[in-house]
Amino acid sequence: MSKKEKIKEALNKDVDFKAVGGKTKGFISEFKDFATKGNLIDMAIGVVVGGAFGKITTSLVNDIIMPLISLATGKIDFTNLFVVLSGDETYTTLAEAQEAGAVTLNYGNLITVIIDFLLIALCIFIVMKKILAPKKKVEEAPAPVTTKECPFCKTEIHIDATRCPHCTSELE
Ligand SMILES: [Zn+2]
Repeated sequence: MSKKEKIKEALNKDVDFKAVGGKTKGFISEFKDFATKGNLIDMAIGVVVGGAFGKITTSLVNDIIMPLISLATGKIDFTNLFVVLSGDETYTTLAEAQEAGAVTLNYGNLITVIIDFLLIALCIFIVMKKILAPKKKVEEAPAPVTTKECPFCKTEIHIDATRCPHCTSELE
């Protein structure tokens, strides 16, 4: 075997262009399927709707629920519930304390976030129960039976048929 032939053989052996091309195509089409079909689109819709839904819940908490709670608990503003850890200066608002560079334990914010979370969980629970549950029930209902099996030729025929259209056998 000449030197030239050896090189040619080595090249053919190492680089199987068809295989490489096939692999790349498989990966790309797999990604295309992932990006265009089913789950990713559903997920994206979920994220967008979830984001918008989150804003509604945040507004509901900050603008409606918290003022009511504040009124019920004697006008306590949760955001201004905090403990100053550094020094013994007293601040009336959290913004004031933070502006002064004080180290604060903002447990009022935590309470707000927890109420926020509970409301979101409650909203999701209601949505699941009221909107998704009845839909599931409809899907689970079995389709009405419109066919039966001919006992002689085993093909599917209309449920009211008295004679099989395939084998012409008479049925009871
Ligand atoms: Zn039949």
